[in-house]
Amino acid sequence: MKTAVLLGAGGLGCPAALALRDEARARGLSLQLVIVDDDRIDGSNLSRQILYTAAEVGLPKAEVAARKLGAVARVARFDASTAAALLAGADVVLDGTDNFEARFRANDEAVARRLPLVHGAALGWTGQLLTILPGRTACLRCLFEGPPPEGSVPACAEAGVLSPLCGLVGAAMARAAMQVLLGAAEAGVLSRWDALRGTERPLAVKRDPSCAACGRVAS
Ligand SMILES: [Zn+2]
Repeated sequence: MKTAVLLGAGGLGCPAALALRDEARARGLSLQLVIVDDDRIDGSNLSRQILYTAAEVGLPKAEVAARKLGAVARVARFDASTAAALLAGADVVLDGTDNFEARFRANDEAVARRLPLVHGAALGWTGQLLTILPGRTACLRCLFEGPPPEGSVPACAEAGVLSPLCGLVGAAMARAAMQVLLGAAEAGVLSRWDALRGTERPLAVKRDPSCAACGRVAS
């Protein structure tokens, strides 16, 4: 059996988890999905966090999502002190968190453990996806040294995010995770979507030999 750990059961995590569960079933792949989130369902989430209903407002996202998908719930905050326990046994990690600090933490903890990571993000009209094979392909910190200075880029809560774009990026994350599980990952390419213009622009990315996260991770 394979294990996929999803960080964040929000706008990206909901469609990613649903698509990954269905894709595994369709392919006959035995998959344990672990859903990590310490947040509770808010009424403002419902337009894009498609696993939840108004009757579930106030309940832990991880528990509700896991119950509906036959997954394992971890109502926990993902940080340096919990990473080892939450990532134990993972064959692939999906990052659907909604802020820069959490994304770099996911990158660093996955890279340190040499776990393949599927990074997804959506903000405003733009979405992006990157599959990272630690020690082999570029990680998030190869591209960006770290989170942007506070206030320089609006957060999801301020800029908003287009609901259909979450579905698109979430489904792409599930497809990328399935490719990792099947040994056919398409890593080293940053996929970028512009939902306003309806364009997709892949960008080949290279490892930074001096990367603080993966520079010393051997291939
Ligand atoms: Zn790196």
